[in-house]
Amino acid sequence: MRLLLSTHPSALAHDTGANHPERPERISAVLAGIRRSGVAVIERQAPPVPLEVLTGVHSERYIESIRRFCESGGGYLDPDTHAVGASWDAALRSAGAGPAAVGDLRSGEGEAAYVVMRPPGHHALENKAMGFCLFNNVAVTARQLLDEGERVAIVDWDVHHGNGTQAMFDDEPDLLYLSLHEFPSYPGTGWVEEVGSGVASGTSVNIPFPTGSGSAAYLMAIHRLVRPILNQFDPTWVLVSSGYDAHARDPMAGIQLRTEDYFSLGAAVAESTEPGRLVLFLEGGYDLDALTGSSEATVRGIAASGESLPQPSEPPKGTAARILDFSAQVLGNYWELS
Ligand SMILES: [Zn+2]
Repeated sequence: MRLLLSTHPSALAHDTGANHPERPERISAVLAGIRRSGVAVIERQAPPVPLEVLTGVHSERYIESIRRFCESGGGYLDPDTHAVGASWDAALRSAGAGPAAVGDLRSGEGEAAYVVMRPPGHHALENKAMGFCLFNNVAVTARQLLDEGERVAIVDWDVHHGNGTQAMFDDEPDLLYLSLHEFPSYPGTGWVEEVGSGVASGTSVNIPFPTGSGSAAYLMAIHRLVRPILNQFDPTWVLVSSGYDAHARDPMAGIQLRTEDYFSLGAAVAESTEPGRLVLFLEGGYDLDALTGSSEATVRGIAASGESLPQPSEPPKGTAARILDFSAQVLGNYWELS
């Protein structure tokens, strides 16, 4: 497998201030993991997003407000979300890397792509920055693919629910938003019964895990929910909001995944689409060692694809088991689940 790796030095210049967990060192930690995976890597410079593509998911007024905010020196957009002058270029390139990767993959230049940029994106709403996110990078790429007639699945394994992404595609039947996350947690959305609206009912899939859940619960969810739903939705493209903050080492959340669980997640998404139709976007993840190990495991899992997906060895217990049963019951109204 050849992996297109899209990054840019501007990701390091986006300064979030002293002691901020979403810091530039995260980028080098992920790049180190990908390079040590043994997978052939083709590096690309992330280009800035064209304005007409960015307006597919954000209003011109909001985009202009972020530009002015950054150009005037920046500061705090909310208690968590900080930007400086250099953040404008970083944000444009974080949003532009995905559409460029789609073009490169269509030209046959690789079997998957990984956008390793910051700021991250999945909390950003049409008109609001939040949760360290300025523009919704994965949504920008998804919107462009939808406009081209593609059928898009977004798998979001960041430990936080991608409220921005879900809101942008709530009534879009050709987009599946599937999120595995800790619940309750920031930003408060992502309960099982948020399934999407109208003709898109069933295309928002939320699998909320109680604090303390780990490998057994995630592996069971992959086999019982994620694989059958992706298989039935039958996407032409799969995009991943790839955060590593569900790792046991992560200081910001209470899910206890092991490094090798990201191998399983990578293998599960790789088997759900044709080679050359998969793009990952770095979201959260705040422990540098966990970022390196988990990104390495993800890329190895993608290269191995579904045949090497481990089977659940032990069933999850307690609240996690009950929530998985309830998720299967609710989602069973829209998908055939065993
Ligand atoms: Zn997160």
